[in-house]
Amino acid sequence: ALLITDQCVNCDVCEPVCPNKAIAQGEVVYEIEPSRCTECVGHFDTPQCVEVCPVECIFIDPEHTESRDALQTKYRALTGAI
Ligand code: SF4
Ligand code: SF4
Repeated sequence: ALLITDQCVNCDVCEPVCPNKAIAQGEVVYEIEPSRCTECVGHFDTPQCVEVCPVECIFIDPEHTESRDALQTKYRALTGAI
């Protein structure tokens, strides 16, 4: 999963582009729900939130590093895809 740092300026550009609805406004900055973030695996070649963020404040979450296989499994669980 990816993580939004406190450099976030709350611009709200990333939230609508997330295919997994993993992003929401938090108490201070926007936040990613790790259980819903597949790093866009299954949907896109690159993380869409990273593509659109104007301040480049989204990185791999060190507490939620996952293999591509694990991300693919999460994608299938979230979407019901076989
Ligand atoms: Fe959503 Fe993809 Fe960003 Fe994860 S990497 S929060 S799935 S847009
Ligand atoms: Fe924050 Fe970047 Fe998302 Fe804007 S696009 S809300 S700056 S994480």
